[in-house]
Amino acid sequence: MQIDYQGKKALVRVDFNVPLDSNFNITDDTRIRGALPTLRHILDKGGAAILMSHLGRPTRKLLPDGSIDKEKFTLHHVVNHLSELLSVKVKFCDELVGDKARKMAEELQPGEVLVLENTRFEPGETKGDETLAKQLAELGDVYVNDAFGTAHRAHASTTTVAQFFGKGEKEFGFLMDAEVKAAQKVLNNPQRPLTAIIGGAKVSDKILLLERLIDFVNNLLIGGGMAYTFLKAQGGNVGNSLVEEDKQELALRLLEKAKKQGVQLLLPEDSVIADKFDNAARKDTANSLAIPDGWMGLDIGEKARKAYAEVIRNSKTILWNGPMGVFEMENFANGTKSVAEAVASATQNGAFSLVGGGDSVAAVNQMGLADEISHVSTGGGAMLEFLEGKELPGIKAIKG
Ligand code: AMP
Repeated sequence: MQIDYQGKKALVRVDFNVPLDSNFNITDDTRIRGALPTLRHILDKGGAAILMSHLGRPTRKLLPDGSIDKEKFTLHHVVNHLSELLSVKVKFCDELVGDKARKMAEELQPGEVLVLENTRFEPGETKGDETLAKQLAELGDVYVNDAFGTAHRAHASTTTVAQFFGKGEKEFGFLMDAEVKAAQKVLNNPQRPLTAIIGGAKVSDKILLLERLIDFVNNLLIGGGMAYTFLKAQGGNVGNSLVEEDKQELALRLLEKAKKQGVQLLLPEDSVIADKFDNAARKDTANSLAIPDGWMGLDIGEKARKAYAEVIRNSKTILWNGPMGVFEMENFANGTKSVAEAVASATQNGAFSLVGGGDSVAAVNQMGLADEISHVSTGGGAMLEFLEGKELPGIKAIKG
């Protein structure tokens, strides 16, 4: 971070959208911890921090009278915990903008932290409203965006607000910076061989990603439910496996494109199959192109695990998005586990690895391997869009 924070009030967009239990206790504080280095930096350099974040989707779950459930969605739920983690008293303002917010921001002293109310209590937030953004901008001298998870949204606090700060008055926080650098390491001049491992439920969610990856990876390993659309399109019998019938043509086109561009695209040679979608189902192993009727592929098989692990271990840059099977069920988690282990072992041997996007992040966390991956992204949708080659509004707003 480059800005001189001495005596400045930094308006910081953080991602404190943490899960809460029914008593509003935080059940996973990863996101709050993720923002600490940036906040400590600002405070250590003599600045004060005014924090903005959303929490949940308050406008989707209105009270019966049509109003926002402020008790449930208030950002006050994070204040005590943040205060403990920072060892600093954290003030809270029960509005995002307005006279009270202005007064509390004005009175904030160097070394102090103020948390503003949930950004999504204001209807202008998700619309990227300029009036709201201007009111927010007036609270701080400089703007810091450390919320990568919402960088793909052109909201008032993530994007519009930045236009009220000049060059040199706005920058990324450490967390955001690390996310951007990790993605760029994969996208710009990566060390080769570059391998992408793509899994998860559906092809349709990842069409853009697959299209783009084929343009620049050396190896593309496909697993998870989406593999069966490819296998069926190739004339295989996939039984009751998850198939998107209308995506078979696309699957064939992607296979053809990979071939033309010299990309090694692997589909699982064998699958762990089950007679129903249940951890307690009967299971067996079958060739992925010959799954008996009434059975479904819920994980990659042992041959595929070996083949994938070998490609991964020989790679210098690895990108992983999406599990190889229904990893939430213990009996179908081995494929995802062995991929996670291979990625960790390649990383130990000097490869750069990026795990990004929802469930694969959950998988490496569940397997206790997160520390052995070069970068585990905090932003599911945002990372996916970045890797698809889209310009994220929250990033553009800072970089110009
Ligand atoms: P995604 O959000 O697209 O990354 O998909 C993740 C979900 O895909 C997880 O909940 C997995 O259980 C599911 N999944 C992975 N493999 C399969 C499979 N072979 N059949 C059905 N669902 C799967």
